[in-house]
Amino acid sequence: RAKKQGNRYQVFDETIHQKALQTFQIETDLRKAISLNELKLNYQPIIDLKTGKLIGFETLARWIHTHRGFISPNEFIPVAEETGLIVPIGYWILEEACQQLKAWQISGLADENLTVNVNLSARQFSQVDLIEQIDQILEKTDLNSQALKFEITESAIMENQQKAQKILEQFRDRQIQICLDDFGTGYSSLSYLDSFSIDTLKIDKSFTGRLDGTPEQLGLVPVIINIAHHMGMDVVAEGVETEAQLNQLKELDCDFGQGYFFAKPLDVENATKLLESSPQW
Ligand code: C2E
Ligand code: CA
Ligand code: CA
Ligand code: CA
Repeated sequence: RAKKQGNRYQVFDETIHQKALQTFQIETDLRKAISLNELKLNYQPIIDLKTGKLIGFETLARWIHTHRGFISPNEFIPVAEETGLIVPIGYWILEEACQQLKAWQISGLADENLTVNVNLSARQFSQVDLIEQIDQILEKTDLNSQALKFEITESAIMENQQKAQKILEQFRDRQIQICLDDFGTGYSSLSYLDSFSIDTLKIDKSFTGRLDGTPEQLGLVPVIINIAHHMGMDVVAEGVETEAQLNQLKELDCDFGQGYFFAKPLDVENATKLLESSPQW
């Protein structure tokens, strides 16, 4: 049987081989990316839906490969996670983000309330010296810890609930805020929401994308918002692309929004220009 379909197996093998090679190439190049200055941060505005004011930025990693050009985080972040490279890269990202916000504070462009959201992957979250590293970076950059907000996925928490609880408590001690990312796409066990100190739920863009102004497409969005508010959490909707979505989110009392309708992720220069313009949506 195997012989008969030999060609097919061979083709299949080659794709797997190709894929493995690609992953290996990404890994090899990613090891050098920081020292080659190929990694950059983008900043995507997060807006208070009641006031139309900017409340902070989510930092998103960008890799501009010297030869291959732009490589999507959807391609390199998973490789970075698998290989553990996300740990040094993640600390680089955190320091860069803290340093940038501090610079904006010093130049008077950012007030004390403006926050910077940094994504923390499961692999980073399970590092034993995570808190020490964070403390060091906060100290080095002299950023007030309340200005920092970590975006963590449900799966990172669920992988080791007891440990997660400890880490989240240490965040709480420092007034570092926690945002649960991609909410609704993973385990979504309501019971843990109650026992962890989480400040914000982030509605995944797959839910936001379905909103079209009609009651039929509301899906879980009103439920998520109600539960969050009931438990004293704020809600941010990501992936807001249209005015209809924005209006519906406002009607549902969603607190914050993020998405192309407001602004795409911006490089430092454009984020700085935006701050200079005292934006109002
Ligand atoms: P995420 O954390 O869920 O980030 C949101 C993604 O949605 C970003 O994709 C962002 O550019 C995109 N986005 C923002 N507004 C809109 C919109 O209106 N419509 C649509 N369709 N998309 C929108 P991006 O930058 O490609 O990042 C993809 C994922 O890679 C992130 O998903 C996150 O899981 C990961 N990632 C990115 N940067 C970092 C990082 O610094 N650290 C870690 N650990 N992961 C990161
Ligand atoms: Ca995120
Ligand atoms: Ca998300
Ligand atoms: Ca994600």
